[in-house]
Amino acid sequence: MQELPFSKVISFDKAVGSSAQYSVKIEQEHFPRLSESCCSILEPIEANFRFFKDLQGLSTIEGSLKAKVTFVCQRCSKEFVKELNSTFSSTCDEQKAKSLKIDQKLDIVELNDDGTFNLLDFLEDCLLLEIPFITSHDEDDPECIENENGWSFGKIVKSSEDNPFAKLQSLKENLKK
Ligand SMILES: [Zn+2]
Repeated sequence: MQELPFSKVISFDKAVGSSAQYSVKIEQEHFPRLSESCCSILEPIEANFRFFKDLQGLSTIEGSLKAKVTFVCQRCSKEFVKELNSTFSSTCDEQKAKSLKIDQKLDIVELNDDGTFNLLDFLEDCLLLEIPFITSHDEDDPECIENENGWSFGKIVKSSEDNPFAKLQSLKENLKK
């Protein structure tokens, strides 16, 4: 496995203190949750981010991520490529933000009990948030043609199994018997 150019867990304060800044490509294998959430990650994830104190003195991480992944289209069941783009700006200074009454406007990240910050998990979370609720081709994509019988196989069948309402329905039906 490629070594990360940064530690998975870091000291936010130290990173701010040294104005740490990264412009890196991170191998797919470092993002297991993202891998599970899509069909494949096509190339290393581009990450650009830096640590600094903002104008109000809040310790901040700011940056962007780009990942090229594939999903199965829920309309036509074909795989399609999607670029996930995330931009973020978050602070760990919750108390200070609250005292400045700007905590509602800011994205606040939690630190661990020992004051460390799960940097790699944070980056992966940012990308997971960019995954659309329904994964499908764009509306007007000519690639996207529904199956002849108007019903697609594969993922969509699986997702209805996982659907809590479907489960509830089958539970109700079983009770009637
Ligand atoms: Zn499609």
